[in-house]
Amino acid sequence: MGGALSLNWLREDGRGRSYVSDWAAEIGGSVDRTTGLFSTVGRVVWLRLENCQLGHPWTGRGAMSSSSVATAGGAALRRDGKKLVRSPSGLRMVPEHRAFGSPFGLEEPQWVPDKECPRCMQCDIKFDFITRKHHCRRCGKCFCDKCCSKKVPLPRMCFVDPVRQCAECVLVSQKEMEFYDKQLKVLMNGATFCVTIGTSEKSELLVCRLSNNQRYLFLDGEIHYEIEIAQISTVQILTEGFTPGGGNTRATGMLLQYKEPGAQDVTQMKFTASEDSNSNKKQSTTWLAAMHKAAKLLYESRDQ
Ligand SMILES: [Zn+2]
Ligand SMILES: [Zn+2]
Repeated sequence: MGGALSLNWLREDGRGRSYVSDWAAEIGGSVDRTTGLFSTVGRVVWLRLENCQLGHPWTGRGAMSSSSVATAGGAALRRDGKKLVRSPSGLRMVPEHRAFGSPFGLEEPQWVPDKECPRCMQCDIKFDFITRKHHCRRCGKCFCDKCCSKKVPLPRMCFVDPVRQCAECVLVSQKEMEFYDKQLKVLMNGATFCVTIGTSEKSELLVCRLSNNQRYLFLDGEIHYEIEIAQISTVQILTEGFTPGGGNTRATGMLLQYKEPGAQDVTQMKFTASEDSNSNKKQSTTWLAAMHKAAKLLYESRDQ
């Protein structure tokens, strides 16, 4: 454990100075003194303490900075600065700056105070010394162990590990994992579209993809455009199909409205699935379906 190491590294934040080893012990991990890697015991998170050098005080402010955070497999290398924070709900890897968070992120809920819930909010069993309270990390409500026993990943709240959730929230989170496992990858892989900007008569063939930090749509062709997801006001997926219920509809395009920083008016972009080959068309259709899901999460994140 970190406490056993005799490191000279110092960190400094609003609460004063502390030794890195103490800090690591405090949040339940340790620092490797040769590599400078921080690890939490039994977890797959590694945090390189780039601002720290052996024998030198770390004079940066705030939490430890990391410009390269990777899972143990090394697959998910991210360049954005992240920091590890411990909340009552668990360990979270959050962006250094709030503005750099994922547009699909959700805030942690306020926990229902213990004194306000004498009984399980699902099965109504009375809490006592044997029947203990547990808070669902997603909704913050109070349950008995039986009604809140599952631990499920919750990437939208930046949790490092799967966290305890009630039955209702488990369903929602599992559905979301589908988005993270499948649709998010589709969006990042990109697809080709004919894009018309504003009232222009001309359309351009552009490859559209979601940036790795989930904060931008990159459009690449003759020119490179970046649309910040936070600036998008509406996403409308255009479909074709014959059943009124929408069972057989197929996504053919997308209308995007966004406001450029400093601009007064909303800019509209029209994306039409590329027709130049069948495989391209299929890729574009899949991408649009993924974008449809992404838009739902996006609106939900904004409404919270
Ligand atoms: Zn219960
Ligand atoms: Zn819940």
